[in-house]
This record gives sequence, C-alpha cells and structure tokens, in this order.
Amino acid sequence: ATPTALMVGTGRGAQLGILIKGPEVLETTRKVDTVVLDKTGTVTTGRMTLLTMHPADDTDEEEVLRLAGALEHSSEHPVAQAVATGAAARVGTLPAPEDFANIPGLGVQGVVEGHSVLVGREKLLAEWAISLPVDLRRAKAEAEAAGRTVIAVAWDGEARAVLEVADAVKETSPEAVERLRALGLTPMLLTGDNKAVAEAVGAEVGIAPEHVIAEVMPQDKVDVVKRLQSEGRSVAMVGDGVNDAAALAQADLGLAMGTGTDAAIEAGDLTLVRGDLGAAADAIRLSRKTLGTIR
Ligand code: ADP
Ligand code: MG
Repeated sequence: ATPTALMVGTGRGAQLGILIKGPEVLETTRKVDTVVLDKTGTVTTGRMTLLTMHPADDTDEEEVLRLAGALEHSSEHPVAQAVATGAAARVGTLPAPEDFANIPGLGVQGVVEGHSVLVGREKLLAEWAISLPVDLRRAKAEAEAAGRTVIAVAWDGEARAVLEVADAVKETSPEAVERLRALGLTPMLLTGDNKAVAEAVGAEVGIAPEHVIAEVMPQDKVDVVKRLQSEGRSVAMVGDGVNDAAALAQADLGLAMGTGTDAAIEAGDLTLVRGDLGAAADAIRLSRKTLGTIR
C-alpha cells in the first residue's frame, strides 16, 4: 500500500476508536488468522460482584467476610474488588491487614486480626496443604457449573468458606466474536479462571470448548501464544490486564483494551479505545480495506 493509503487508514482507525502505533501495524493486522481473547475485562466487563457464600460448619459468616474482605481490599484484581466491596456492604468497615501479599493468578495471603488468611483459588489453598471439606467442594462444583467464579477462604490452616462471584459478558462481545469469525479468523478464549467458568463464558459468546484455554497462569499466557505460532498460526491477542502484557507483546498483533491497564496498552500494537471487542473486528476489516484486499 502507498504511504498515503496507510495514513488514511490510520486516520480512519482513529475515527473508529482504534489507535494504531505505526502504519506498518496495518500490514500485520491483515495477516492474522487466529485471535486469542483474554476473558476477564476483555470479553466480560471485569466488574464482578459477590453473589453468595457457603460457610463451612461452625463458621461465622461475618468473620469470613471481615477477614477475606480485609485482605482483598489491598488487591486490585477484579475478583478482589468484588469480594472487598461485597464484604464491606454486608459487615461495614473492614479491618486493616497486618500483613499482605498478592500471589498473581492465585489470590492473596496475609494476616488479619491475628489470623493467617488465604483467599483465592483452590490451588492456592492446596499449596498450603489445605483441602476443601466435602460440602464446600460440592457447593463449588455446583456454582462453577453455573458459570460462577469460586473463591476459597481459609485461615489458620483450615478452609472456612467458598464465595461465588460473577461478572457479565459485555453486551457487544457475542456479535464481535461472530464478526471475527466471519472475517475468517479463529477466535479462542484464554483465561486463568477455571475450566467450567471459561466454557460457560465461551458458550455465551459462541466459542466452542475446544477453543477455550483455561487455568493458565499469568506468566504462561505468553507460552500459549508461542505454541499457537509454532503451529503456523498468525496470532492476534486481545487483552486488558498486567497479566496480558507479555502475551500482547509476543503476539503477531497485540490489541489492548483502552479501558485496561497501562502495561497492556504499552505492550499492544493497537488500542481499542472504548474497550469494545467489536473494534477488533473493525481493525481487521480496516487493514484489509486499506491494503486493498477487500473493497
Ligand atoms: P484472567 O486470566 O481471567 O484475567 P487471572 O489470571 O488474573 O484471571 O486470575 C485467575 C484466577 O485466579 C481468577 O479467576 C481467580 O479465581 C483467581 N484470583 C486471582 N487473583 C485473585 C484475588 N486477588 N482474589 C481471589 N482470587 C483471585
Ligand atoms: Mg483480563
């Protein structure tokens, strides 16, 4: 394409809410055949809410909310915000943790009111050799089958409760996935969340289980992209989180949600200003048009 065509394409992109880092990006955009979509904050709103809790026998629900809420208050993760906000709404002011550590992709750990507390995936508890009792295990399985994200709470070496949180698929996501497919791309869903939740979200937006890649640790998302590339695919990655930055940089084309983190925006080649997945389809259409593949 001529420099003029590229400039016009870049300008048209800005009108569509797509910021393009350089004219050469349009060339790469045209060639992608696979589009990997991060789940939380990209396909879904990322605004999660705390729905219910299942306490273990002899566990005080208020104490669960106070201790879990206190720790999660210090984390910026969407799940953490849901727990902290939901807990504060139910029990009022949360205590300040005496100690706090964020464990990416797993949850949080710290000390609250003298108790050593863990909040996060079952896998986090397993690392501390804590397992869920049978009733909590059953509650978790049922909630996950319904598409909810389940967070476990433990303190002083014992599992105390599971919490159900959920966020909603963005209204525009199903149509965006359909448009990406109509452009000849294969959409895939990538997430650190568990398989049942990921497949439920996949079903909602029209991505089959075989194209849902779940339970991937933040640092391993980049390897998923590398693997797809080694299979001969030209990969676009769409993401919003700090977690997604390396994968966005590795992808042939990185598309960052403008509503996401600075780390993601810096790593991407394109920014979708409004955080709408539909703009990803617009970007691909635009590049093909600009480069004369379609009229
Ligand atoms: P995603 O890939 O969907 O953006 P992450 O990789 O950040 O998600 O996290 C994966 C999973 O780890 C979350 O779905 C959640 O179950 C759990 N998790 C991560 N951080 C926290 C936290 N602060 N509190 C509770 N759970 C967490
Ligand atoms: Mg995300």
